[in-house]
Amino acid sequence: ELGDYPVIRKQVDQLAVVPYLVDYERETSSFTLDEARSWLDGLPGKRGLNIAYEAVDRHLAHGRGDHVAIRFVRLSGEVEEVSYAALRTRTSQFAHVLRDLGVQPGERVFSLCGRVPDLYTALLGTVRARSTFAPLFSAFGPEPVRQRIVRGDGVALVTTPALYQRKVAPVRDQMPGLRHVLLVDTTAAEAAESGIPGAVSLSEAMHAASDVFDIEPTDPEEMALLHFTSGTTGTPKGAVHVHDAVVWHHASARYALDLHPEDVYWCTADPGWVTGTSYGVVAPLTHGVTMVVDEGEFHSRRWYATLAEQGVTVWYTAPTAIRMLMKAGTELPASYDLSALRFVGSVGEPLNPEAVVWGAEALGLPIHDNWWQTETGGIMIANYLSADVRPGSMGRPLPGVHAVVLRRGEDGRAEVAEDGSVVPAEDDQVGELALRPGWPSMFRGYLHDDDRYAACFAGGYYLTGDLARRDRDGYFWFVGRADDVIKSAGHLVGPFEVESALMAHPAVAEAGVIGVPDPIMGQRILAFVALKPGFEASDATRRELLGHARRRLGPAVAPREIRISESLPKTRSGKIMRRLLRARELGLPEGDLSTLERAEEEGRHER
Ligand code: ATP
Ligand code: MG
Repeated sequence: ELGDYPVIRKQVDQLAVVPYLVDYERETSSFTLDEARSWLDGLPGKRGLNIAYEAVDRHLAHGRGDHVAIRFVRLSGEVEEVSYAALRTRTSQFAHVLRDLGVQPGERVFSLCGRVPDLYTALLGTVRARSTFAPLFSAFGPEPVRQRIVRGDGVALVTTPALYQRKVAPVRDQMPGLRHVLLVDTTAAEAAESGIPGAVSLSEAMHAASDVFDIEPTDPEEMALLHFTSGTTGTPKGAVHVHDAVVWHHASARYALDLHPEDVYWCTADPGWVTGTSYGVVAPLTHGVTMVVDEGEFHSRRWYATLAEQGVTVWYTAPTAIRMLMKAGTELPASYDLSALRFVGSVGEPLNPEAVVWGAEALGLPIHDNWWQTETGGIMIANYLSADVRPGSMGRPLPGVHAVVLRRGEDGRAEVAEDGSVVPAEDDQVGELALRPGWPSMFRGYLHDDDRYAACFAGGYYLTGDLARRDRDGYFWFVGRADDVIKSAGHLVGPFEVESALMAHPAVAEAGVIGVPDPIMGQRILAFVALKPGFEASDATRRELLGHARRRLGPAVAPREIRISESLPKTRSGKIMRRLLRARELGLPEGDLSTLERAEEEGRHER
């Protein structure tokens, strides 16, 4: 398929833990949503469904209140543990603080802070109070913060005084609806003296609040979470998610991550991105695991140390992190005890087959790619612990997910006939990936953008904007975003395929491929690469890479030109921003850069 990577075979009877999904076909044919709902408790007395109850309270009802829910690895490396019982106390207090301030159910509470304990309290405390939580990544600048709080009608913000001064103060007068600022790590006196309108000391307000807050009847369709997309292709959209999503968070983590209550689980994503909430807070807690939260940013030694010292068993991370670990070499992991690890998953971008195989060598486990979006709220297509892995494939749809590839029209997106119908593509044909709506974590709208939401549907499907193909055995292969696909001399070229071929060369740490207009070929394939340490950005290297790509891909699909740069522009969630490579190359406007990662922030927090 993608190059010549052999299938990685699994032997289920040799796994340390019997996986939930043993037989894919059987599970897929027997799955029902009713069954998935039965895995959760629902509010006592059949009073609806609330994310906070499923993530926290029900474990107390089942006698697991003392189990450690979250192990915070602070910046210093110090570890702080919070039990499920303590989480119920804290989130109850937080819910009271909101109510005492007059924040209503349905109103939006934003956060702008690092991965500190109060962030997790605020998230679960807000949904406990039936308000809506909208987490922002703490490295955002003032403009992206303003954009999102205004678009999301934020009435309260949880942040630190320092972040407030740098990112909120400059734009506060443009956010008239923001009434309350809940300051983390601040005394009441400091809050009063801060001069911040609406300032409250979070810790003192919580201290004064009752630690019992029984969850009110909650309609599963109430808005619980508001997530902004990564902004890879343009201006971020605000996707609305409801309490019912928890059904899918739980079911998908069962199938695609195989979370068991005894697991020590680490999701490396920040809650500012949907992954960091769906699988960095909600899903793992509904499974009653102990989850690790690392306050620090990526650093290869820090990360390996965390995996080893915390005894992580299930790890969910992203291709960009894996590529950075690959860059750091295979000797490094060998010096840590990673024997507890039993499953590694990846999401966010296509995972190059080279990275899947690297996992098998360096960690002793292949890396399991899975696919989903902010809009889908949860994992849709995955490689499973028990199933063979075809390196480069994102796997097969989860039980209960109906995914298809639709035939493409002129514009590259799904072809929609006059009567609104769509046509499935043949096996192995590239088309737009589409999903049959109906799973619980499906977004219910783009906030304040109904037209855009309506435009996502055709012929009874949700159109994802991604191009893929499905092979005869039902495995899905990512080709590229519809916007990124290249048409060169009559060939349809997916950037992922070309990037993966480049990644297979030992000198390449990361690669981004775009098409630029060409009078003869329509589009010419241009590649940007960043090199691993020890390789020189020379003409010889460039020629070597061109030759390597040609041999692997053939002349029609190989890049004509390769540019070597220090690093590639990425979103803060770690996705290569091909649109920015293209804009810069062509001298076009750079567009919305609110989620662009700034290079100077990389590589902090060594341990
Ligand atoms: P925006 O919609 O604002 O342009 P975004 O699409 O990057 O940003 P997210 O919802 O965070 O925002 O990302 C979802 C997208 O990420 C998917 O539509 C797909 O393009 C890409 N993606 C996620 N997982 C995978 C994967 N396993 N393989 C390939 N692509 C993936
Ligand atoms: Mg998107």
